[in-house]
Amino acid sequence: MTDGRFLEGQLAVVTGGGRGIGAAIAEALAAAGASIALLGRDKPPMERQANAIAAAYGVTAKFATCDVADEASVTRAFGLVRETVGEPRILVNNAGQSAGVAFTETTRDTWDRMIGVNLTGTFLCTQQVLPAMLKANAGRIVNIASTAGLKGYSHTAAYCAAKHGVIGLTRALAMETAKKGITVNAVCPGYTDTEMAASAIRNLVDAGRTEEEAAKAITRVMPIGRLIRPEEVASAVAWLCSPDAAAVTGQAIAVAGGEVM
Ligand code: NDP
Repeated sequence: MTDGRFLEGQLAVVTGGGRGIGAAIAEALAAAGASIALLGRDKPPMERQANAIAAAYGVTAKFATCDVADEASVTRAFGLVRETVGEPRILVNNAGQSAGVAFTETTRDTWDRMIGVNLTGTFLCTQQVLPAMLKANAGRIVNIASTAGLKGYSHTAAYCAAKHGVIGLTRALAMETAKKGITVNAVCPGYTDTEMAASAIRNLVDAGRTEEEAAKAITRVMPIGRLIRPEEVASAVAWLCSPDAAAVTGQAIAVAGGEVM
């Protein structure tokens, strides 16, 4: 077993790290000693989270504004990260958005946004870090997919397509990098207690259910009978980044209370 500060001296980039699951992941990696760079569109939550992490764990924690779906923005943000904190050894592609809408009402804009943020964003950020990882023969890439990358759900075709794509990308890149000291894995959360799950509950309330019925409908699909906690997703990510997981690559690991197997 590795000791508590097993990521000392490594830089981890966490996209969407200002809040929700990404904030918990950044915290778990910092607790293991990693320096942290957060990327996202909205500056204030990232600034708060970076300051909190630096104070709590004594690591360097920076942030850069970035729209992961926009190639120029991604190039700029990673350039800034390299200039200010160095070359990332860990990338967690966590930034994501969901849309709960019937297929026949899915507009081209919604489709493009789902693919753009969830799938193309993962592609663009990975392109930024992979050349240096290959040169160093070392690296960890963890893509936050979803149970929606492993099965279908009604009213989420575009999101499901994007997350299935993330898992395909993960598996293919894992094959390409397996002999290079790099692992590439996906973590697939079930409904997790963040703003994204709260908005899924609000959608059901807007469609006529009570708040209690909506919350029950969401947790009913989960054998564990409750939402996943962001920290539970984060600890799977931290383990995948640890030396103990050096032989684990190309996996899609569900943290979903038994919903998929
Ligand atoms: P939140 O909505 O709480 O957070 C999403 C994060 O992604 C925010 O930090 C947001 O920052 C960032 N983000 C969104 N769009 C972009 C963009 N275009 N560019 C850069 N950053 C962006 O969601 P969660 O924490 O719940 O979700 C995190 C990941 O987990 C997502 O990939 C999601 O699909 C996945 N997931 C979540 C589940 C859940 O039930 N919560 C279940 C399964 C998977 P900002 O707005 O500042 O850009």
